[in-house]
Amino acid sequence: MIRRGEEYIKSLKEGNHGEVYYNGEKVEDIVNHHAFKIPIKTVAKYYDLHWEDEALRVYNRDVGEDTSISFFRPRSKEDLKKMRVGLNRIYDNYYGFFGRSPDYLNIWSMVFYAHAEDYFGKVFGSKIMENVINIYKEATKKDLFYTHAIVAPMYDRSRPPSQWEDPYIQIGVVKETNEGVIVRGAAMICTAGPYAEMLWYLPNIRRDSDPRYAIFFSIPGNSKGVKFITRRGFYPRENLGEFEYPISSRFEESDAILVLDNVLIPWDRIIFYKKPEEIEGFMWHTVQLRTWFNWHFAIQHYSRLKFYAGLAMAIAESVGINNFINVQEKLGEILIYLTLNEAALIAAEENGEYLPNIYRPNPYISITASHFNMRALPRVDEILRLISAGSSIPIPAGIRDFENPEERAMLEKYLASKGLPALERVKLFNLLWDVIGSESGMRYEQYDRFSRGDPTIRWAQMYTEVFKDRKREYVKLVRDIMDQMPNPKA
Ligand SMILES: Cc1cc2nc3c(=O)[nH]c(=O)nc-3n(C[C@H](O)[C@H](O)[C@H](O)COP(=O)(O)OP(=O)(O)OC[C@H]3O[C@@H](n4cnc5c(N)ncnc54)[C@H](O)[C@@H]3O)c2cc1C
Repeated sequence: MIRRGEEYIKSLKEGNHGEVYYNGEKVEDIVNHHAFKIPIKTVAKYYDLHWEDEALRVYNRDVGEDTSISFFRPRSKEDLKKMRVGLNRIYDNYYGFFGRSPDYLNIWSMVFYAHAEDYFGKVFGSKIMENVINIYKEATKKDLFYTHAIVAPMYDRSRPPSQWEDPYIQIGVVKETNEGVIVRGAAMICTAGPYAEMLWYLPNIRRDSDPRYAIFFSIPGNSKGVKFITRRGFYPRENLGEFEYPISSRFEESDAILVLDNVLIPWDRIIFYKKPEEIEGFMWHTVQLRTWFNWHFAIQHYSRLKFYAGLAMAIAESVGINNFINVQEKLGEILIYLTLNEAALIAAEENGEYLPNIYRPNPYISITASHFNMRALPRVDEILRLISAGSSIPIPAGIRDFENPEERAMLEKYLASKGLPALERVKLFNLLWDVIGSESGMRYEQYDRFSRGDPTIRWAQMYTEVFKDRKREYVKLVRDIMDQMPNPKA
């Protein structure tokens, strides 16, 4: 099934979301709440986009009906390309923002389904294999909006959560019952939690192998005891709007702390249980979730880099700095990042892996691209700051500055630039500020750095994990020459 935006909104109105707290109040009307109405509108538009662009719809062989391309299980290079092109359309529509759009977790559910037998069935038995299949089919047939949570609260990173004063700060199993297991604890951050209908919880159990944490599951947001404590909405304010905040007003995504207050997880919603050591197969080997989500991030980044390249060039050209070699060098740098991303997506597709049930993007390339962007995207933010310098700051407060004739006359004289009339210039610089300076812009920078984990750890993992099997090839090149070099006579 492919829903329309209004069906998603209707579902939220019917209460298909968690219990949401915002600034001391329990939110009753999530759809019209000022902190959530922007992302809800954007998600609704995501669903509608599927009806406007046929690249997003596909006949899904696994469920025997049309679904979103994001639920589609690629079996060949051509399938993966089709999927990537569809996702490109979604993220071009977001200019590369709004990374926690429904498609992100749809892909996770699809990947689990593809490995129902060779991983979940093999490791956990037929009941869990059935759960994986049913959860995917339910998500697909109802076109549900899933979000996810992984990371434990930052209580004390020097010790594993099982050694914290309260071992149930991180979500863990409290007891088993006939119906399922009771879990309690929190996750540090769950973007989109307040307005998603469903939740995947898949903790990072590499940090702590205590079996009480080794449980992955999917539940409806409105399950009893699921609570979200939401951060401040970064928009709207002071009656300002799309003119002043062109990015925040479209792509604000709420982030929340997830609390599971003695929540019953029915047996049929569990997909991983009690075998912490099996995380390796899930993340790195058989399922290779890491490859898939990094591939998806590279798609988001590609759309964003196109937008950032355009923004940087428009700014440089508007104020006549585009002929300076140092500015050209920086514009070139952004174009290099952009092109490397484009190349990585094509190469990941071209050099993917044919597995019995799925065609997977190339792991080395997908992970490298996404990890590279943890530093490339913040660098592009820096370039935007460097080239716009002080002119990014003195932008008139709002659209009404242009509605006062006396003020407008001054703005048209003193704020116009060589390349742009004043109004256009202000629009451009409002866009810039919403990328590099607003709360939403700063949050996106933090997201670019950390949303796939800490960059130091991820870059180190290129050596310790990703290239584990291949790095000897490179060392051997050196060894070969060393072996050919003469040794001193005995
Ligand atoms: C905007 C945003 C949205 C997000 N949305 C989601 C979401 O929807 N769902 C979700 O699950 N997660 C989400 N994340 C969280 C993200 O997954 C984590 O931020 C990420 O995994 C990094 O973990 P951490 O923040 O706990 O940092 P840590 O890994 O704890 O790192 C913190 C600092 O300590 C250092 N450090 C930590 N451990 C070590 C060590 N062993 N050795 C050396 N140094 C160490 C790191 O280098 C780093 O500087 C989001 C993050 C952001 C910023």
